[in-house]
This record gives sequence, C-alpha cells and structure tokens, in this order.
Amino acid sequence: MKLQKPKGTQDILPIEAAKWQYVENLARETFTKYNYGEIRTPMFEHYEVISRSVGDTTDIVTKEMYDFYDKGERHITLRPEGTAPVVRSFVENKLFAPEVQKPVKMYYIGSMFRYERPQAGRLREFHQIGVECFGSNNPALDVETIAMAYQLFNELGIKDVALHLNTLGSPESRAAYRQALIDYLTPIKETLSKDSQRRLEENPLRVLDSKEKEDKQAVENAPSILDYLDESSQAHFDAVRQMLEVLHIPYIIDTNMVRGLDYYNHTIFEFIAKVDTSDLTICAGGRYDGLVEYFGGPQTPGFGFGLGLERLLLILEKQGIDLPVAADMDVYIAVLGEGANLKALELVQSLRTQGFTAERDYLGRKIKAQFKSADSFRAKTVITLGESEVEVGQVTIKNNTTRQEILASFKEIETDFQSLLQRLS
Ligand code: ATP
Ligand code: MG
Repeated sequence: MKLQKPKGTQDILPIEAAKWQYVENLARETFTKYNYGEIRTPMFEHYEVISRSVGDTTDIVTKEMYDFYDKGERHITLRPEGTAPVVRSFVENKLFAPEVQKPVKMYYIGSMFRYERPQAGRLREFHQIGVECFGSNNPALDVETIAMAYQLFNELGIKDVALHLNTLGSPESRAAYRQALIDYLTPIKETLSKDSQRRLEENPLRVLDSKEKEDKQAVENAPSILDYLDESSQAHFDAVRQMLEVLHIPYIIDTNMVRGLDYYNHTIFEFIAKVDTSDLTICAGGRYDGLVEYFGGPQTPGFGFGLGLERLLLILEKQGIDLPVAADMDVYIAVLGEGANLKALELVQSLRTQGFTAERDYLGRKIKAQFKSADSFRAKTVITLGESEVEVGQVTIKNNTTRQEILASFKEIETDFQSLLQRLS
C-alpha cells in the first residue's frame, strides 16, 4: 500500500493554511457587505444533479466526474462545481417561497473534485469560493456581483487582472447564434481538432472556447453572438456595460468566451490574470435564468461565480504579494526545572482562558533555546518560571521588544494579566 496522498491532491500545512484563512476571511467579510449568507451543501450529490445541469457533453461530465455506485446502488458523484448543488438546495428547501426575502444571496467555500491531469493550478481536489444570487434579473445585480469579485481582488492587491465580458443572450438568441455558428463551421470542419469536430455536433459554442491552435485559427472570423441578440438581450447587455462604466470597472468584450458550462445565458464573465506570460482564469461566472426551473422550481433568475482558491493563491505568490498573516503571540513561558511543570500548566491555561495567546516549554530545554522559541513565535512578553519562582509565588515578566521587566505574583497573572501588560507597554 502506498502511504501517500492521492495524485492531484494537496496537504495544506499550517503556514500555508494561514494564507488560505486570510483569503477566506476576506472573502467572507466582503460578501457579508453585499448581504450574502453562507450555504454548506454535501460534498457528494446524486449524479443526475450534476450531469444534465452542467451539461452532458461538457468536459466536466464526460471526463472529469468522480462518480461511483454506493452500497445502496445509488449513482453518486463528488461535486465538481458549486452552482448545481446550490440550485438543487434552493429548490429542495423552497427558498423560492414568497416569505423568503429576494434576492436570495448565498456563498460557499469548499472542495470540488475533478478527474483532471494534474499540473500547476490544476488539481483533482481543489477549492472554490463561489456565490449565487436568486430572484432578480436586474442587470444591476450582474454588475454588483462582478464588482464584489473585483473588490476582493483589489483588497488582496492583485495586479493585472482583466475582466472579460460576453453575453449569450436569451435562449432564442443563443439558438439563432448556434445555427449561424454551425453554418460557418461545417464547411471548414476538416480544419478543426478532433475534439472540436465532435463539439460541432454536440455543442458548437464550445468550439469557440477551445485552446487548440487550429481551432483558434478557425474561429477567428466566426460570426459574433452580438449580431444575433434580440432586443431584450441587447438591452440587458447594454445596461450591464453602462453600469460597469458608472462604477469605473474596466472590461474587455470577448465574444469568443462562452464558458464551459451549459446553464448560462445573458451575461457571462471571467477575470483573467497574467502569470509570467500566460493567462490564468481565476474567477468565472454569469447568469443562469433557467436553472431553478430545470430543478423543478418556479422560473427564477440566477447569477453567480466560482473562484479557484489554489489559482488565486498561485497568482498572489507569482505576483510577490505577501499576505499579512504572521501573528504575534502574547506570552511565552520559559520553564526551568521539573518542579515548575505543574505551575507552568496552570499559568498558561489561565492566560488562555483570559483570552491571550500563550505557549510554554514542554521539553526541559536550556534557557537560551527557550528564549529563541519565544522570538520565533514573536512573543510580546516572556515569563521565566523556575523552581525558586514557584516557591516564592512571583515571576518576572519581560517585554520582549523593550526588554523592560516587572515583577508579578501568580495571583495577579491569573486574575488580571491585562493590567500587567499595560504596565509593560
Ligand atoms: P479551465 O478552463 O481552466 O479548465 P473551467 O472552465 O473548467 O476552467 P470552471 O468550471 O469555470 O473552470 O471553475 C471556476 C474556477 O475554478 C476556474 O476559473 C479555476 O480558477 C478553478 N478550477 C477549475 N478547475 C480546477 C482544477 N482542476 N484545479 C484547480 N482549480 C480549478
Ligand atoms: Mg476545466
């Protein structure tokens, strides 16, 4: 048996996890400002929840699902994305009911699973932060959701991130465009990659999304969706553009960006960052006005995005952005001699229950090594506790920066350490 993690997974060790926590906390704070609440759905779902909503012909469903039959012969899959599960939950919990305030705004943070070829920024278990908003087709909602992601990237200090914007229009516009694309691509089918020849039959819009060189060349002169929008689709798109301009959020119209998933209509967008010389999508989303109905709920518009956490952290690292994660410790207790062990336990415990971060020596090391630990934990104060201190009931507390020292009784430490700290600062 191999005692190693499965391919495409990661152990996130404490130093790294501190960065994750920072980003997650900032996301939570930001989303809260926009009145979002958290939703937690299961990590696995019935296969059907994902398969048809995401699209039977998408890469996610055809190649990347972690699906299996459980002991009750149910077809189960680990979730590959967050939107379909949240919509499933929205309908199952009847959040469409009139007594639930609209729009319903929810975010999630968690693991997603896709059987992919692992490479930088591409894993089999990865993490997404995502948001979904139900119950309004106001273009202001498209724009505030995009603005929310934009605010998060700005607060993290990410540079060179570009907003790519497109529309798929109403289902009717999309169908008209689909036909135009088929008419354009069919005569040049032979020049397309094998995958795209298949896509042309199954899902021609996705040829536009292809990363293959020959496909990119073939679609260069393809018709544009913008010429096939009906009046209301055009109005929605114009409103989104105008509102982005009012908020001074720069964007690029990218009519070849169609997104891999089937459930989108109207506005779709990606935030793409430059890493070295290549482009990496960190955040992607759009409007999905038909998905709630598909899951058996009443017609309810929706808008959302998903953001890859690993990819976001990769970009932060590549751009040399240091997150403010190093934390100070309030107290370190240096312990000298076995006779001080019990008192050290009591003191450190009392400090923690008073709300301070505190650590002590457990290993009976030399004093110098213990002071080194205090420094590396960035301890603000150091208490030195030996057997003689235990006898007398008094210790010195040192301000580890100014080196100022005061004498204090155990009783003072155990009842009001805050006052002692004030005397030291
Ligand atoms: P790509 O074209 O890169 O495969 P995608 O279209 O499959 O992306 P989405 O399904 O839109 O991606 O997921 C949203 C975000 O989740 C992506 O922009 C990316 O940041 C992240 N993501 C997707 N797949 C992976 C993966 N296998 N490993 C790490 N992050 C991922
Ligand atoms: Mg993918």
